[in-house]
Parts: sequence; C-alpha cells; structure tokens
Amino acid sequence: QLSNKLALVTGSTSGIGKGIAETLLKEGAEVIVNGRTEERVNNLVEELSSLGKVHGIVADLSKADESEKLVDEVKKLGNLDILINNMGMFEVKAFEEVTDEEWMTYFQTNVVSAVRLSRQFLPEMLARDTGRVLNIASEAGVKPLAQMIPYSVTKSSLISLSRGLAELTKGTNVTVNSVLPGPTWTDGVAGFMKGAAAEEGKDLEKFTEDYFKDNEPTSLIQRFATVEEVASTVTFLASPLSSAINGSAQRVEGGIIRS
Ligand code: NAD
Repeated sequence: QLSNKLALVTGSTSGIGKGIAETLLKEGAEVIVNGRTEERVNNLVEELSSLGKVHGIVADLSKADESEKLVDEVKKLGNLDILINNMGMFEVKAFEEVTDEEWMTYFQTNVVSAVRLSRQFLPEMLARDTGRVLNIASEAGVKPLAQMIPYSVTKSSLISLSRGLAELTKGTNVTVNSVLPGPTWTDGVAGFMKGAAAEEGKDLEKFTEDYFKDNEPTSLIQRFATVEEVASTVTFLASPLSSAINGSAQRVEGGIIRS
C-alpha cells in the first residue's frame, strides 16, 4: 500500500511512534525516524533496517532551530508524503502546581512542534495534491484528565489543529486527521503499572483488571490497547485506503468515549 511513500514519524525511538515506524515499513514505506539522542536514533535505525528503507534524524522538535534542521534533512531525502506528529510529553501533576513555564513547555512540545512541521510540509503536499498528516492526540483531548490538565489541553489543541488544517485541504487529495489513543501498553506504561502493582502487593494481571474497573469503567475492552492496535489504525489513515476520511478525530480507546 505504501511503496514509494516517504514518511516521517516524530518521537519514534519508543512506544507508539516506534510501532508506527515499524508498521509503515512493513507496508513498504520509506521511513524517517526521529529522537533526541544520536544513540537511540542509531540503535533504532539498525533495529528496523531489516524491515525496509529507514533513516534517522536527531532533533529536539520542541525547539525551532532543531525543527528547521530536521526539515532541511527531510527535504534532502525527497518529498514527504506522510507526516506523523507523534511525539509528546505527559506528567501527572496537580493543576495548581503547574507553572507558566511548564505550560509553555507543554505547548512547545505537544502542539508547536506539530504546527511547525505542518507549516513546512502541508503546502508542498497541497502543491503536489497528495499527502497525509496525522497528529497523535489522545482520548484525554476530549475527556480531560484531572491530574493531567496541561496534557489534556494540548491534546485538545492538536485535535483542533487537525480540523483547522483539514479545512485547508478542501478539494484536494491531501488529508489531515488526528488519532486519539486511549490507555496503550507501551514500555513506559508497563513500567508504571508494574511499579504500582508491586506497591499494592498485587500481581500485574489482577492490578490491571482492578485499574480498568476503577479508573476506566466505561472502557468496553477493559484492557490496554497494544501499540500494534494503535499503529495499524495510524497506518490505515496514512494509506490511500483512507481517502474519504478528512478532518476526523479517530479514537482507538476501546470505547471509553461514546457519543
Ligand atoms: P513515549 O514516551 O514512549 O513516546 C513519546 C516519544 O516522544 C518519546 O520517544 C520521546 O523521546 C519523544 N519526544 C518527547 N519530546 C520530544 C522532543 N522534544 N523532540 C523529539 N522527540 C520527543 O510514549 P507513547 O505512549 O508512545 O506516546 C506517543 C504519543 O502517543 C504521545 O503523543 C502520547 O501523548 C500519545 N498517547 C499515548 C497514550 C498511552 O497510553 N501510551 C495514550 C494516548 C496518547
């Protein structure tokens, strides 16, 4: 489905981003992975190289100059067909303890990074009349989390950004959508859950079952989604098969939100 397509996945040295890079490679795309350290990016390129053509670019995309540098490097590789703004930061913190500076960091990291890359790549996608932009938001963007308000607000902004940018694609073959994962079993989440289960002296399976009953009672799957389940949805939306889906916010949250 994706042969001859060049894709960029930001923040792809771990978790969902890594899963998306893998799935895109398996579908035949040429993939650019990104992370903040040379070591992690090089290791990932080596790990994924058996799956297809993969490049690595080191850049902290919360910073304008590093974003510009990445854009220059991407342009040397060719025309970008698929832009996946995946990177994001999240932290559990009481609302009253989050400083102005931390709010700005959230916006720089979770929103402005995607704005900058969209500003660079969307116009050329429109000029070529082909392309996909996907912003990885979160279920928290429509169902805010009390202990993660800055995260929730920035994810809501990403959904809005996607809808706004989709308006610019009217009458073209370019689409812009957001994907809203719910609780997803990444290494980071697994580490957190294992620690919390051990603290309560419960085994992981029982702890996870109770976690969903107590914290996600509306979840229909009553479990974490896998990285592969999120990545396959993203890959579908990045493919020509999704051509009539534009400006949407695709939930992959196991039915937590029903409206
Ligand atoms: P993760 O921490 O494994 O991935 C986030 C990635 O972003 C990391 O690789 C990190 O290095 C990178 N990153 C952060 N700041 C960066 C920067 N300034 N420049 C470049 N890279 C940067 O976590 P994940 O769960 O895989 O998250 C991926 C995306 O999915 C995030 O946007 C997250 O908000 C979203 N999401 C995750 C879940 C979940 O349950 N795991 C749920 C909903 C949404």
